[in-house]
Amino acid sequence: MAPRFCEVALPVPLRTTFTYEAPESLAELVAPGTRVVVPFRNRALIGVVFELANRAPEGTKVKPISEVLDPIPALPPKLLELGRWVAEYYVAPIGEVFRGMLPPPVEMESERALWLTAAGRGYFAELSARGNRSEAEVTEHALLHLIEVEDKPLRTSRLGKLPGGEAAAARLMRHGRLEARDLTRHRKPRMRTIVAWNPEAQGETPRADEERIRKVLTAERGPLPLPALLREAGAKRSAIDRLTRQGKLLMWQEPQAAEDDWFEADFTPPANVLNADQSRALGEIESWLAAGEFTVGLLYGVTGSGKTEVYLRAVRQALKRGRTALILVPEVALTLWLGRLCRAWFGSVGEGVAVLHSALPEAERSREWWRVRRGEARVVVGARSAVFAPLENLGLVIVDEEQEASYKQEETPRYNGRDTAIVRAKLENAVAVLSSATPSLESFHHARIGKYHLLQLESRVENRPLAPVEIVDLREDFRRTHRSAAISEKLRTAISEGLAQGTQALVLINRRGYAWSVLCRSCGAAVQCENCSISLTYHKKRARLMCHYCGYSIPVPRRCPKCDSEHIHFFGEGAEQIEERLRELFSQARVGRLDRDTARTKREYQQVLSAFAAGRLDILVGTQMVAKGHDFQRVTLVGVVSADTALSLPDFRAAERTFQLLTQVAGRAGRGELPGAVLVETYYPEHYAIQLAAQQDYPTFFERELHFRRLMHYPPFTALANIVVRDRKVENAIRWSRQLAAFLEPQESRGVKVLGPAAAPLARLKREYRFQFLLKAPRRTQLSRILAECLDFCSRKEIPETAVIVDVDPLSLF
Ligand code: ADP
Ligand code: ZN
Ligand code: ZN
Repeated sequence: MAPRFCEVALPVPLRTTFTYEAPESLAELVAPGTRVVVPFRNRALIGVVFELANRAPEGTKVKPISEVLDPIPALPPKLLELGRWVAEYYVAPIGEVFRGMLPPPVEMESERALWLTAAGRGYFAELSARGNRSEAEVTEHALLHLIEVEDKPLRTSRLGKLPGGEAAAARLMRHGRLEARDLTRHRKPRMRTIVAWNPEAQGETPRADEERIRKVLTAERGPLPLPALLREAGAKRSAIDRLTRQGKLLMWQEPQAAEDDWFEADFTPPANVLNADQSRALGEIESWLAAGEFTVGLLYGVTGSGKTEVYLRAVRQALKRGRTALILVPEVALTLWLGRLCRAWFGSVGEGVAVLHSALPEAERSREWWRVRRGEARVVVGARSAVFAPLENLGLVIVDEEQEASYKQEETPRYNGRDTAIVRAKLENAVAVLSSATPSLESFHHARIGKYHLLQLESRVENRPLAPVEIVDLREDFRRTHRSAAISEKLRTAISEGLAQGTQALVLINRRGYAWSVLCRSCGAAVQCENCSISLTYHKKRARLMCHYCGYSIPVPRRCPKCDSEHIHFFGEGAEQIEERLRELFSQARVGRLDRDTARTKREYQQVLSAFAAGRLDILVGTQMVAKGHDFQRVTLVGVVSADTALSLPDFRAAERTFQLLTQVAGRAGRGELPGAVLVETYYPEHYAIQLAAQQDYPTFFERELHFRRLMHYPPFTALANIVVRDRKVENAIRWSRQLAAFLEPQESRGVKVLGPAAAPLARLKREYRFQFLLKAPRRTQLSRILAECLDFCSRKEIPETAVIVDVDPLSLF
């Protein structure tokens, strides 16, 4: 007999599971990993069955499960195990961990439909031939008839219309005459309007604008989508309507063509012959796959050394061995690149590729997720949360640009996707390969002490040179030109030379918006967010000042809100402003921008990146989204505007992050046949992070930084955790911090260093006051124990669970 009780993990901020009873009708369906609907404090919540139990806990009243959502458990066993690890390691509520692992619940709306089986067809023929049918058979016949004449599966929602339909369907299914499957609804393809010149059109001489339209559509371009025609002919919509009425233009609708999109278009990956380094690295990975044991490799090689090429081949090997593969990348923009590559490599040999990331519409994300769960996709490419993709029999996990901070989730559960990927590989006896030109100090250190295997690619493929990096001293530029310009004279000259030669330029500016702060010249006040201790960013196009932390925004003030002076000054260039300057400076160039303001959805990303990749843009401006991973073949110039913004942050990783970003973006230049150049503008030209990035000297940077980490007791030499105490009432935040301090202080005698309580660098965020403690422990186990005890202490003292944020292995202390 099936166990009657189960522990269910619910998406609530509590570090525990809850006991429910499975009613007899559902008992067979309840298994670990199954999603269920349960009553919880007068609400219905979706939870995940975590464990089965034969007995109820004593003394409590156990409520029954109301519904079972999955015919097969949504989460396979290994993912349950992984979730348990995440919850323990990051001291996070288990239910919230599982919520992050599941697909968006939209698929619950996806409908089941009934298919006719071969047996069903035979039965239908038999019934049709028979004269006298019982009442039940009449219903069955009607049902089968419906499917037969419509020649398509019947949605179960229509059964209600047929009296006795549901019972009949159940009977037919039991006898194998019908089969139920989930039907994913196909959305209508997007349509677009195409305009062509009617070859049969006659009539009087057209007007000037009409002549222009005719020329574009006949001599220059041929039939065009309407927006393109308006743009290229400089025509008005009214002119086009007029010509259509006169029969001179033809207009029709067609589905948005796939080949319109560079990312969706078919392409064949180049058949490269691996060089010696690449072959050696691939050979090693293959031997690990063959051994079938958990192994971690660090694939380290300068940008453009062919790392992607190596790991894609490794994926192929894993697939050949009947295993599945997961590729994690740090940015949505990169999932598109890798997805395209993977479809070309594996899609054509019948291995489904799924792409998972947060910019997908929920329905699409859910569809992709279930394709993976059903085993239809055996390769998954995705951003952070794809580490939880429900692949089974996982053989290989790749973490591309493993050092990236975006692998760390900055909300509960605060896991690091890279580290979770390694644990996942361990649970599945799989191989994990971390890939980078600038590995994190932690990973490189692990490789050096032999915990990871180092796979090194010494040089760029075909011995292409790395692009030389020149540092532009902005102070000197100012002395010469007496103007403070974000785009220095040098950068301007370099861009215009590139434009003259018809090559492309990439400009990195690591700030969004138009200006990152608004100052009053009279009283010196900066306009701050009402909810956070941070200045507001000016967004010109939206004509608002906005907070990048909480979303608060106000119209642009004409006068200082504090002293009413008119002398308001916008300070510090952001991407929006750089784009505007570039358009002014190079009026003939086609300029695009990629940042979180221009790209939120997959489509928006695709539009900008396709345009640049296909050469429809000359200059691309962007935040770090453009810096990583991409393989744009015609980029010869990379310009970095205000390279040093991160260096002023109070964070021990500031130098590392600056070094990585500069090295990464420099690596975007000169990747194809054409040689490249990089210009880095800065006010701190002497800073070692900038100097060493310019020399692209990772080993020296590593030694220097590791020395500093050892001296200062930072990772990888200590385990770190950050505890933030927060509340809207400052008194509460202070009182709880004091209580926590009293608990944490004695831990110092156990060798754990406790820094704090101190006001957090963001002392106020989303209306909450914040104080923080930084814990440094020589050993990980010690840290975990103290953190668990600390949270128990909080619940004893009735400090709300939501008031205490524990961040294990924090990446940003800001
Ligand atoms: P990385 O990931 O190290 O930045 P990629 O794998 O993207 O480098 O390779 C950079 C470019 O070199 C790509 O355009 C790729 O197709 C090409 N490439 C990779 N390996 C070879 C090779 N062995 N011979 C020629 N071209 C190669
Ligand atoms: Zn003022
Ligand atoms: Zn704010």
